[in-house]
Amino acid sequence: MPIAIVSAMHEELAAVLDLMPDESRQSAAGREFWVGHLHGREVVAVLSRIGKVAAATTAAVLVERFGVEAIVFTGVAGGLAPGVQVGDVVVAERFLQHDLDASPIFPRYEVPLYGASEFRTDPALTDRLASAVARALPAARLHRGLVASGDRFVSTTAESRALQAALPQALAVEMEGAAVAQVCHDFGIPFAAVRTISDRADDQAHTDFARFVREVASPHSAAIVQALLA
Ligand code: SAH
Repeated sequence: MPIAIVSAMHEELAAVLDLMPDESRQSAAGREFWVGHLHGREVVAVLSRIGKVAAATTAAVLVERFGVEAIVFTGVAGGLAPGVQVGDVVVAERFLQHDLDASPIFPRYEVPLYGASEFRTDPALTDRLASAVARALPAARLHRGLVASGDRFVSTTAESRALQAALPQALAVEMEGAAVAQVCHDFGIPFAAVRTISDRADDQAHTDFARFVREVASPHSAAIVQALLA
């Protein structure tokens, strides 16, 4: 059974695709899935596109059509907690949707009818991913914990402060992880996610973002994935 490697944007996955010698392209649900090998492991690599719905669709297709045994997400995120700086790496242990609010019927952040607001990543795969990060990027500062997802590029200091106040445990913010975590929970598929911090989700986020993704994110993802599958 193949393992899925997912990123939201092409810039995040380009270097991973370069490592696959034999990939063949298959289209499904308007996406291109690259099926092939990496370090001798069967891999399906795909761009989810940006946002929770796009990520959920991608994850469901990976499970149902490609029969993947696990999903690993690699990409960039905005740093939220004070010590989580540009260039640091965050391995998610749990995800929450910061823009989910069905209150007062359900508590703030709770996913209706699941009785929970957070989904955990797979502990064993997450440990393997964290040790791959340590081997691939020994100089990078590594954080593990809660990551918040929502359908917003958080790019004002005011919004970042509000998120930090509401969710003091959240290390980083991005736009896909919680959706993939929920789909993987539904299908009983192991999930792990790593994010390189591209910006601080503040008034400078947009400027930091473009430069960082171009120069750092893609090689980071490739080094981590290579170490994970080696
Ligand atoms: N393409 C646009 C923005 C991409 S959205 C641009 O060039 O400006 C940002 C992507 O990176 C999403 O896939 C999200 O998961 C992640 N991300 C990085 N920093 C983020 C932030 N501050 N807030 C939300 N998502 C962020």
